[in-house]
Amino acid sequence: MTATIDALAAIVGAPHVLVHDLDAYANDWRKKYRGRPLAVVKPGSTEEVAAVVRLCHATGTAIVPQAGNTGLVGGGVPDASGAQVVVNVSRMNRVLAVDTTNNTMTVEAGCILQHLQETAAAHGRLFPLSLAAEGSCEIGGNISTNAGGVQVLRYGNTRELVLGLEVVLPSGEVWNGLKGLRKDNTGYDLKHLFIGAEGTLGIVTRAVVKLFPAPAATQTAFIGLGSAAGALRLLDHMKGALGERITAFELISAFSMNVLERFNPALRSPLAAPHAWYVLTDLADSRDALALAADVEAALGGALEAGIIDDVVLAKNEGEARRLWDLRETLPEAQIVDGRNIKHDVSIPISAIADFIAAVDAALEAAYPGVRPVNFGHVGDGNLHYNVTRPAAGYTEEAWMADESARVNRIVHDCVHRFNGSISAEHGLGQLKRDEIRRYKSETELGVMRAIKAALDPKGIMNPGKVI
Ligand SMILES: Cc1cc2nc3c(=O)[nH]c(=O)nc-3n(C[C@H](O)[C@H](O)[C@H](O)COP(=O)(O)OP(=O)(O)OC[C@H]3O[C@@H](n4cnc5c(N)ncnc54)[C@H](O)[C@@H]3O)c2cc1C
Repeated sequence: MTATIDALAAIVGAPHVLVHDLDAYANDWRKKYRGRPLAVVKPGSTEEVAAVVRLCHATGTAIVPQAGNTGLVGGGVPDASGAQVVVNVSRMNRVLAVDTTNNTMTVEAGCILQHLQETAAAHGRLFPLSLAAEGSCEIGGNISTNAGGVQVLRYGNTRELVLGLEVVLPSGEVWNGLKGLRKDNTGYDLKHLFIGAEGTLGIVTRAVVKLFPAPAATQTAFIGLGSAAGALRLLDHMKGALGERITAFELISAFSMNVLERFNPALRSPLAAPHAWYVLTDLADSRDALALAADVEAALGGALEAGIIDDVVLAKNEGEARRLWDLRETLPEAQIVDGRNIKHDVSIPISAIADFIAAVDAALEAAYPGVRPVNFGHVGDGNLHYNVTRPAAGYTEEAWMADESARVNRIVHDCVHRFNGSISAEHGLGQLKRDEIRRYKSETELGVMRAIKAALDPKGIMNPGKVI
């Protein structure tokens, strides 16, 4: 073991091989998984990553690729064996090129997402990937989880934002697919294998990502309405009236708002009366601010008149918009007011979301009378974070999490499957859903996934125990 650590230090330099105080690298963001790495290695270049992987390949040492370590499924942390090496790419954090004519940016895997957004803005462009962890997650992790976030409706998932990749394969070979092409039909499109692979097929070291025109104007609205079905009618109505200018469309349940207010009384709905559901929506226009404001007012005014929505406030400035988004972005942590709950990141065809919510609410209520779903999500993309808080009486937090998780997951995921949805919309499988997915994917699909894994990583050293 010390020989491996010495050899790693010879590659990246001793200060970049950490063996003490490893909590930040060994434990995941939710503190659900607590690992024990042999060492944490922080390479400074693709060549160093490749040399580290060649060493691990030769010695049969397992590697856990890691970026910002904000993942929510335990994909980026080691097991407790003390034998796995975490390869953390955070030192590789340079923006290598910005091409405003090609509308691309070439970046290293350890760039923090927010830094990429700011770099794009400084060039009069938009890098649209946006999520609550953007101040600490890194593009290598975003690519490897095919992160979604709040602007998928208009710009797509990370997969749609990546044009080229450089990847260190489990053998230590470097695949240079660092092209900024929008058209390239030359056989299998390998980059898509690595996007969303959660570090099981190789280590992403660089990427070419797409840029878009920076919006000249944005508009944020917070809306109260009577039902989830109403939110879908509103989405349809807005798509008709405002087209592709809708960038975000988030659904928040009344109980989620209640959770927020109890977590922090300053986080209140800005609407005069309570509603059964809320929608937070963002719109953007790359040209005309006045036209956008007028169109949004007309569209939402029309929705009020048609009885699709009950009330709405429009943010008058950036500060007000920020405060509305604080509501949505604080929800992940606010849920702790009722103790830990059982989380689900699922997607359903958009048209079926209201029926899905009704079906899963009923199934859970039948199994656990008084159960409290904390339901919110990127509903414009069909993505719900359907989290299940225990009934107010009858279960301790520990018993709920330890004894009931499997049954609750089964109820929710079976319902997702029945609606032809996915049990992981944007967070991935990691360790959390690795076994669960076997119930919902066919043997054919699992067989193809295993064959790809075996072809690229026959020794099984790249993030073992995750995904497959
Ligand atoms: C408050 C909060 C809100 C969030 N909101 C969203 C959201 O809206 N949408 C969403 O999609 N996610 C969300 N997430 C989850 C998480 O932020 C994303 O999955 C993010 O993309 C992970 O990036 P990271 O740099 O932290 O990756 P890590 O956690 O370090 O790694 C994630 C996975 O990618 C692998 N990996 C990391 N770097 C590399 C690399 N260079 N090469 C190969 N594999 C690698 C790891 O092994 C692991 O499997 C949220 C998380 C938090 C804490």
